[in-house]
Amino acid sequence: MKKIALITGAKGGIGSAISSQLVKDGYRVIATHSAGSQESAQEWFDANNFNTDQVRLFELDVKDTDQCSERLCGLLEEEGTIDVVINNAGITRDGTFKKMSASDWKEVIDTNLNSLFNITQPLFGHMCEKGAGRIVNISSVNGLKGQFGQTNYSAAKAGMIGFSKALAAEGAKSGVTVNVVAPGYTATPMVSAMNTEVLESIKAQIPMKRLATPEEIAMSVSYLLSDAGAYITGETLSVNGGLYMH
Ligand code: NDP
Repeated sequence: MKKIALITGAKGGIGSAISSQLVKDGYRVIATHSAGSQESAQEWFDANNFNTDQVRLFELDVKDTDQCSERLCGLLEEEGTIDVVINNAGITRDGTFKKMSASDWKEVIDTNLNSLFNITQPLFGHMCEKGAGRIVNISSVNGLKGQFGQTNYSAAKAGMIGFSKALAAEGAKSGVTVNVVAPGYTATPMVSAMNTEVLESIKAQIPMKRLATPEEIAMSVSYLLSDAGAYITGETLSVNGGLYMH
């Protein structure tokens, strides 16, 4: 029987690489996408030649507490179990703090941080009862170092790390591990499409002088889910080419 992994924002740049890696690792992937993006989700599914045993598309607004609770409890009943949760969905609404609107603050905190409550809470109890589970939260180098123009994003991404350590402490005796992968700048379609000059100046600041590939982030997640990662919990794995060392 395949293990079942739920990943939020599964068709995004990094989410897509994680989904493909987990399919390769033999998981059945529950690939969540945002409300109203069924068509592009289906296109993504088709373009990757997934079949319905490998990947199930699942619409979910990670900001909506009630919807997540209701739909994830239903999913658990339908699938029988969830072995792995990858909280990957995320957004940016950048701006210096003086100019930041309350809605840009709230939208980022809701999507990037409150989503951890919304997604994880309906599934964590089941994992503890089962005595096994793996949770990986996708944070960011900018949550560790703080980034100019990203008070909302850095706060949310740092919050994910505190959440993960606290939940790791709660899950440990029940065989549930909770870890963080903190990517540096990653060559997703959106980042790669940035103005060449800006991109070059970013690369110049990275000791390895290049961006991460989405596949490198996905392999780090895969490692934490593997037998090699069984005794790792509450940890933050930086995958940033040396951009920030903590
Ligand atoms: P993308 O924008 O490509 O993907 C983000 C995904 O989040 C999208 O697939 C989107 O779903 C989903 N999403 C956004 N809002 C919601 C919502 N309300 N409900 C459900 N899903 C939602 O970003 P990346 O792949 O680049 O980023 C993935 C994660 O990695 C993020 O958390 C990001 O902060 C983090 N990260 C990225 C870095 C980078 O350089 N790219 C660096 C460090 C961290 P849909 O497509 O269905 O709308």
